[in-house]
Amino acid sequence: MIERLRPRFDAEEYGRLDYGPDSYSLMAIRSRDWRDDLPVVLVTGGVHGYETSGVHGALQFVDQHAADYVGRVNLLVAPVRDHALLHIDLHETTDTDETEFRPALAARDGKPFEPGGIPDGFYLVDDSENPQPAFQQALIEAVEQITHIAPADDKGELFGSPVGKGN
Ligand SMILES: [Zn+2]
Repeated sequence: MIERLRPRFDAEEYGRLDYGPDSYSLMAIRSRDWRDDLPVVLVTGGVHGYETSGVHGALQFVDQHAADYVGRVNLLVAPVRDHALLHIDLHETTDTDETEFRPALAARDGKPFEPGGIPDGFYLVDDSENPQPAFQQALIEAVEQITHIAPADDKGELFGSPVGKGN
C-alpha cells in the first residue's frame, strides 16, 4: 500500500522495530508540499499493534482524501506522537479485548477480571487534559452520516466513563 502512495507522498523509513526474530520498518508518510508556516495534522494508527483497522484507515485516508488538504496543512501519518495542532490517533476495541486482552491484563496486574462490553460502533475518547467537546461533537455528527455511533451502556457509560454530548 505504501508503495502505491510513493508517487504522491514522501514515504520514509524512520526506524525499525525488532520483535523476536522479526524486524519491521517504521514508516512515516508526509505531504509533499510541507511548509513551515502551515499547522501540522498528525494521524497515527497502530500504536497498539493488534488494532489493525487504524493502520488501514490511515492509509486509506491518505490515498483518498489527503489531496483535499494540500496547501492548508502539513499532513504526517505515522505510528508516532509529536507536537501537532491536531492529532487523530486511531484505535479500535477488538472482540478479543474481552476474551484475551482484558483477562490477560487483569491476570498481569493480579486483579479480578470484570467483564465489560465491546462498544458496537464508532466512539471518540477526548483528551482529559485538553477537552474539546465541540470538536468531538462535530466529529460524531460527521461520522454518523456514514456509520453508526456506539450507544452508551445501561449505566450511560463507555469503558466506565460517562458518555458526553459528543461521546
Ligand atoms: Zn488502542
